[in-house]
Amino acid sequence: MASRKILLDESEIPTHWYNIVADMPNKPLPPLHPGTQQPVGPEDLAPLFPMELIKQEVTQERWVEIPDEVRNLYSIWRPTPMYRALGLEKALNTKCKIYYKYEGTSPAGSHKPNTAIPQAYYNAKEGVKKISTETGAGQWGSALSFACSLFNIDCEVYMVKVSYDGKPYRKIMMNTWGSKVHPSPTNLTNAGRQILAQDPNSPGSLGIAISEAVEVAAMNEDTKYALGSVLNHVLMHQTIIGLEAMKQMEKAGDYPDIIVAPFGGGSNFAGITFPFLQNNLTGGPQTRAVAVEPTSCPKLTRGVFRYDFGDTVGMTPLIPMYTLGHNFIPSPIHAGGLRYHGAGAIISQLLKDGLIEADAINQNECFEAGILFSKTEGIIPAPEATHAIAEVIRQVKQAEKEGVSKTILFNLCGHGNFDLGSYEQYLAGKLVDFEVTQEQIDASLAELNTPTI
Ligand SMILES: *Cc1c(COP(=O)(O)O)cnc(C)c1O
Repeated sequence: MASRKILLDESEIPTHWYNIVADMPNKPLPPLHPGTQQPVGPEDLAPLFPMELIKQEVTQERWVEIPDEVRNLYSIWRPTPMYRALGLEKALNTKCKIYYKYEGTSPAGSHKPNTAIPQAYYNAKEGVKKISTETGAGQWGSALSFACSLFNIDCEVYMVKVSYDGKPYRKIMMNTWGSKVHPSPTNLTNAGRQILAQDPNSPGSLGIAISEAVEVAAMNEDTKYALGSVLNHVLMHQTIIGLEAMKQMEKAGDYPDIIVAPFGGGSNFAGITFPFLQNNLTGGPQTRAVAVEPTSCPKLTRGVFRYDFGDTVGMTPLIPMYTLGHNFIPSPIHAGGLRYHGAGAIISQLLKDGLIEADAINQNECFEAGILFSKTEGIIPAPEATHAIAEVIRQVKQAEKEGVSKTILFNLCGHGNFDLGSYEQYLAGKLVDFEVTQEQIDASLAELNTPTI
């Protein structure tokens, strides 16, 4: 009998995170100060982040040690299981082998605590008492709330208003872990007041909520800011996923030809692929790494590579990124975690250099794949994760057409147990596909006056 579950012992939790910058042929370009447009230094970032995270943001060291206390807290849910998707393989009638790494076993239900725990740890170690952050559908806000509660740090979350109103359960999770949650835009910040003056009924966006959370940290001596994706240190913390997955593939006696992961800002994609890409970059076995974004927010497949802000108001450093423009407001699709206008600096450089690939898929194809997966493997995937499953199915069909058999690994980065409203709409036939027009993208990019590359 082929075994479905590939497990590791607690003692096999990795001891170091992997920093891909050490092995990149072209290093990512530096972030620029939003005012002076000169490269930012550690002192520019000091109001927002603790020093250890600033160091990790710029380090070129290949391996960064995971503190014992963080490894110990990881052991609440790590190592996470890997599965062979025998049920899905059978349903697809394929000789391809499909594996998935399941990150939904964390207390918050996604991969996000992998970075929330070390971020809270380094803040606590440097005496920080309060952290502000933003959240879309609530995945990051709940992960950081969980982490802050473990370190007795006050956590204040600016939650995109449409989600605050429409998806109450993750807000209640955040409250349960002790956080204060505000529907963004608020009238508590200059950024929020500026948006509300233009549109009193603004539904909010991730970019606006970031502006608010950054402003609160910048204006208050006792408050720092935390981001759940995009930044180099966040991507590095997530490599714990791929490092475990490598050991599990070895146990299974296999190696992936293709790795697939959904793409919002790049953290879960980086997490599962970077340790394998190290082999690509250093002459080892080769793997294709495919990032999957929604057709409604296609920065990797249809955006431009240039400097852009991480937020809407223009308070964050300028990051060299594939972007649709920081004013781009994506259509209201259900994979809230993928509705972000840009990609991180490392990911963008890797894509520019042809070292990773990207594809865009509409939400009905994704939910169809998510439902097939639920019926054959049992777990109901997060709407974000269904993008990876739909891409796996595309890759399987391609392999069948070519008459070859591939080994495919994907990241099941979260469960969908708090996203059932979107499944309800899909099952009622009410989900609408949003394809962005070229005019919409051109109009958003035409507003950019940030430096080109
Ligand atoms: C936040 C989130 C994403 C998108 O963020 P990345 O940084 O691209 O990983 C995807 N899936 C889930 C379940 C999330 O919570």
